[in-house]
Amino acid sequence: MPGRNFLFVPGPTNVPDRVLRAMHVAMEDHRSSSFPALTKPLFTDLKKVFRTETGQCFIFPGSGTGGWEASLTNTLSPGDKVLSARFGQFSHLWIEMALRLGLDVQNLETEWGEAAPVERIAEALTADAQHQIKAVMIVHNETATGVTSDIGAIRKAMDAARHPAMLYVDGVSSIGAIDFRMDEWKVDCAVTGAQKALMLPPGAAIICVSPKALAAGEHAKLKRAYFEFKDQINQNASGYFPYTPSVPMLYGLRESLAILFEEGLDNVHARHHRLAGGVRAAVKAWGLELCAKSPHWYSDTVSAVMVPAHVKSDDVMSAAYKRYNLSLGAGLSKMAGKLFRIGHLGDLNELMLLGALAGTEMAMRDAGIAVKPGSGVGAAEEFWHDAASAASAPVAAAGVRVKA
Ligand code: PLP
Repeated sequence: MPGRNFLFVPGPTNVPDRVLRAMHVAMEDHRSSSFPALTKPLFTDLKKVFRTETGQCFIFPGSGTGGWEASLTNTLSPGDKVLSARFGQFSHLWIEMALRLGLDVQNLETEWGEAAPVERIAEALTADAQHQIKAVMIVHNETATGVTSDIGAIRKAMDAARHPAMLYVDGVSSIGAIDFRMDEWKVDCAVTGAQKALMLPPGAAIICVSPKALAAGEHAKLKRAYFEFKDQINQNASGYFPYTPSVPMLYGLRESLAILFEEGLDNVHARHHRLAGGVRAAVKAWGLELCAKSPHWYSDTVSAVMVPAHVKSDDVMSAAYKRYNLSLGAGLSKMAGKLFRIGHLGDLNELMLLGALAGTEMAMRDAGIAVKPGSGVGAAEEFWHDAASAASAPVAAAGVRVKA
């Protein structure tokens, strides 16, 4: 099909041309004396994305799933109890992995579309007087349902319960796109992947680990080999890796971090918030609902749009892809057929999203959803126009922006 594919799945995301060019390199000796000049700054710069001074960052070959495994196996022992909540496909998969690894999972079953249940987490921790729970595992942004959980509130609940459990956060579709604070929230293991907010091709699991979790690793008995933190620490200190790293990935990461810092992380977060607001305005104008059950939980990186009962969301996605070269995210597992997802993270702007929204409108009509042509596009335009006017309005004496 002529023209570019409109890639609006919530990862892999669009890779900026700058990153593609940076990755287009001849191979080089990863044990050369000049290699650390490339790699050492990456570890320092990644810490800025996780917002940590004390955490240690790791770059493993793999993907987010490998990051989950590395976090669990390096810090826990067989039979250790972990507390988690299942509220979407990714929290489900992480819990399944923990079970497969031989951990004892206390799962707080939660309706899909809701966020991690802070009060029930607090109750579970308070009830655990013997401190059997070694870790709390939470998916920050549940990509399957477009729901963002309040990790700061979970940290407060843990502190209020005076519980020493570690806090593990899946930030695969949040870190680098929406607010994430490793140190302030006292996160012990944070996991992301290359192909989401970092705007890289898939192929790296990027993890940040607190000193507390590293210390727990001294006694952790779960089996691990390829994902051993210690092997990485020993080699990374001098800028090397325990095995052959993906050289293009490292060059790409250097460029993607540069792009993020040029825009400024706070601005990146603000852009995602603004773009998500436009998508939500479009969904409202279409007369449809998001899977996320409360505005408080709306994700700024992915919107999961429920389709009317008489329609299969796969038909929307199929029309979008086959007729308009637009890739939308599928409904996963128990949401299959019920929703489609619009990813809005990474390297994108208003006009790119307007194209995706226009394609989604056409595909929805093709699949039998009676949306008014241009209604969502118009609502998003209106939203962004208002946001731009508000941002450029003069600031009143009290520091409050006045309407232009
Ligand atoms: N966690 C979340 C929140 C995700 O969105 C994904 C993938 O989309 C994963 C984990 C799994 O990551 P990967 O597919 O990179 O292994």
